[in-house]
Amino acid sequence: MTSTAQRLAAIRGDLPPKRHNARTIAALTGNPGCARRAVLDGAGVDKPRLAEAIGFPARFGQSRFAITRGNAFEAQVKADGGAELLRLVAERLGVPVPERAGWTDLGGADDLPDRHERSRRALTTQGPEAALFDHPLLGLDVAGQRVHLEPDLVAARLGGRFHVVEIKSFPVVDGQADPAKVAAAAIQSAVYVLALRELLAAEGHPEELVSHDVVLICPRDFGNRPVASLLDVRKQLLVLRRQLDRMAKLDALLDTVPADFTADPTADPATLAAGLRTVPARYAPECLASCELAYFCRNEAGGHTGALGRPVREALGGVATVAEVLALATGERAPEPEQEEAAALLRAAARLRADALAGNSA
Ligand code: SF4
Repeated sequence: MTSTAQRLAAIRGDLPPKRHNARTIAALTGNPGCARRAVLDGAGVDKPRLAEAIGFPARFGQSRFAITRGNAFEAQVKADGGAELLRLVAERLGVPVPERAGWTDLGGADDLPDRHERSRRALTTQGPEAALFDHPLLGLDVAGQRVHLEPDLVAARLGGRFHVVEIKSFPVVDGQADPAKVAAAAIQSAVYVLALRELLAAEGHPEELVSHDVVLICPRDFGNRPVASLLDVRKQLLVLRRQLDRMAKLDALLDTVPADFTADPTADPATLAAGLRTVPARYAPECLASCELAYFCRNEAGGHTGALGRPVREALGGVATVAEVLALATGERAPEPEQEEAAALLRAAARLRADALAGNSA
């Protein structure tokens, strides 16, 4: 074990590391400035348990009903060796529906290196013209650490190229789906496209072998009939690459974390909370939908302008707290030179508000 790996194991405590998936990587790259999250995710800390231990349990995630419904839809789409799936994908890509296609399930309980090797061999060996690969084990380097991805996805080789196929249980109604859910599916799919490209590139294949067009399969309207759509994830790939490149190396981050820092959920809650406060965070309202520590960090960031989101942080640069904002808006406090612009904005907003209230009461 390297010293970094030992350090991360000590931070995690006596628990196996939580495995990453595309959702956690997508969320991680969505807040690259947060050292706290990078350290916890890099160490594979059980964040839901940690959040619960410190009294701020996470409140997001799919309901049991939604998970069951999603699993049933996925099983239905993949039934009969993926025959229906193959038809949907081929039709959406505009290629002839093959009469036969290989179906390889790369899932299993064997060791990660063995599974990775099976996936590599299956995906890089010439086989039938049309082939579907379920549960391929992929990998990506995240914050200086190798992360294994065990996607619940199918990689389809059709018409000489690979396409990532994502099966989601949110509905497409009248050709429209929830934009937030589509955006989340797009960034997660981009994680898979990138990981699949890396795997094939290591064998000398060009990245174009994996298409940037992802096939998204969802239930149509309010029934269970599947419908396929194409998602162009080129933009998401750029964002993902840039953010993965930008993320600080974990070694450098760990140098700034106190030597006795622990995030072991079985440790004393007060020690855990105090320890977490020593690792810088960058709370934003988006954390509520993507990080299990959001309620702890929101509580900690209370009263600070940064907690109100990026637009507020940018408009009020140099004004750190809500108390300062109010004092500057009322003129109770004179601005520092670097706060002049924000203070003028705040005074104008306060005047407008006062006028509006006076108008309402007139
Ligand atoms: S909730 Fe906290 S730890 Fe998680 S990304 Fe936001 S600021 Fe960082």
